[in-house]
Amino acid sequence: MTSTALSYEVFINDPPRQHNGALPNGEAKAFPPLATTLVHGEHDAVLVDPGFTEDQARAVGDWVEGKGRRLTNIFITHGHGDHWFNADLLARRFGARVVATEGTIAQMHANVGARPFVWDRVYPGIPDSPVTAATVPDNRFALEGHKLVIVEAGYADTDASSVLHVPDLALVVAGDVMYNGAHLYLSETSLAGLDAWRRAIDAVAALGARSIVAGHQNPALDDDAERVTAETRAYLDAAEKELAARETALDYFTAMVERYPDHRGRTVLWATAQAVYGIRANPGDDPVQHIAGAWL
Ligand SMILES: [Zn+2]
Repeated sequence: MTSTALSYEVFINDPPRQHNGALPNGEAKAFPPLATTLVHGEHDAVLVDPGFTEDQARAVGDWVEGKGRRLTNIFITHGHGDHWFNADLLARRFGARVVATEGTIAQMHANVGARPFVWDRVYPGIPDSPVTAATVPDNRFALEGHKLVIVEAGYADTDASSVLHVPDLALVVAGDVMYNGAHLYLSETSLAGLDAWRRAIDAVAALGARSIVAGHQNPALDDDAERVTAETRAYLDAAEKELAARETALDYFTAMVERYPDHRGRTVLWATAQAVYGIRANPGDDPVQHIAGAWL
């Protein structure tokens, strides 16, 4: 039984600057904007992907507090630290529970393990990040009687990606299965094959949502599900074509900047380019070394 109407709002975090140099075109490295979503009813609310730095936790926390709802759950879509390293700070501030799938929880542990080699070398201000997330039975929980369904989408920009489907809002909070006006991170996907990501997109598209909130986005764009889905698919096609045609990481970077001059996240594009071409040139190496090294 449902008694109240739901709605959702999105908070776009300011991307933290990186302190490790510049992109090939001279611009300073910076993380793409991260979208944090609040789904709320009359009294309660659920937060998705709060971010990773202490500054972001403060900004998101104050925004949530301003909505005047009781925060019951914080859902994490996938294991990449930029979506959740600050979740424990917010869970403690609001007395909320952190929720994720079993696959994501395993990836969260792996990302904590990678902190000293990647995250902490690039970004200042990441708080302690204990993995406190728990699974929920049948991947379902509720908000004021409305069902919230966690849908496991498989491999998108990392393994064990999931999305939050809110049927009563015809909404999917898609984490990094969908991008909206931002460069896709393909370093890990290049190992699994881009078709893995295409299948994840198909799984989300099958939910028939009207609105899709992408984890990384240009704040000027809307959440139109059809456009976001089509553009994420088209980016994979374009990337596949350019990766086959271009000889070097720099050529790929330049070609994608030309195709997508307004896209956010050129640091992600450059990290992708360095990882993919590094792996290609050194087939005997552990690919993880190139994926991590591309951020440094
Ligand atoms: Zn991300």
